[in-house]
Amino acid sequence: MKKLLSRDEYEQLLKNTPRDVCLLCQAQEQIVLGSSTHWLWIASLSPYWKFHTLFIPRKHLEDIAELSPELFEDFKTLHQKAKSKVLSLALKHDDGKPIDQFIIMIRLREVAIENGSTYPKPRHLHIHFVPDREGVERFVLDPLAMEADIEQLRLSE
Ligand SMILES: [Zn+2]
Repeated sequence: MKKLLSRDEYEQLLKNTPRDVCLLCQAQEQIVLGSSTHWLWIASLSPYWKFHTLFIPRKHLEDIAELSPELFEDFKTLHQKAKSKVLSLALKHDDGKPIDQFIIMIRLREVAIENGSTYPKPRHLHIHFVPDREGVERFVLDPLAMEADIEQLRLSE
């Protein structure tokens, strides 16, 4: 089983990946939790928060404008299965409150980040799926997020 990475470990992984290799096209490098015809549901390798996962199209697409109605229908099906799985596990936030709300988000980068102080980010379209609730500090990353048991989210085929 692959383990989740800290942000530092993940930055190193990205820095050490050749520019012409898309990590999200390498399913064998991912923790795949579920799949459908056109999508994979994967763990965020370096989660911002506990149980942070991603939906990615199997095909390398870079923009939501590239999603056909067929791809979007298929996404809705896998998303519903994933959400049902997470809810069925009755997971809890660190303070014991139930995980029963989620945020879906897509970061849009109009300008590719190349050199400079940061590292190359995946261009492959990825839809973040993360637990949420009122009052949570959404944009403060959880340094212990990598310690959550992500494997329990895996869908049975
Ligand atoms: Zn890709």
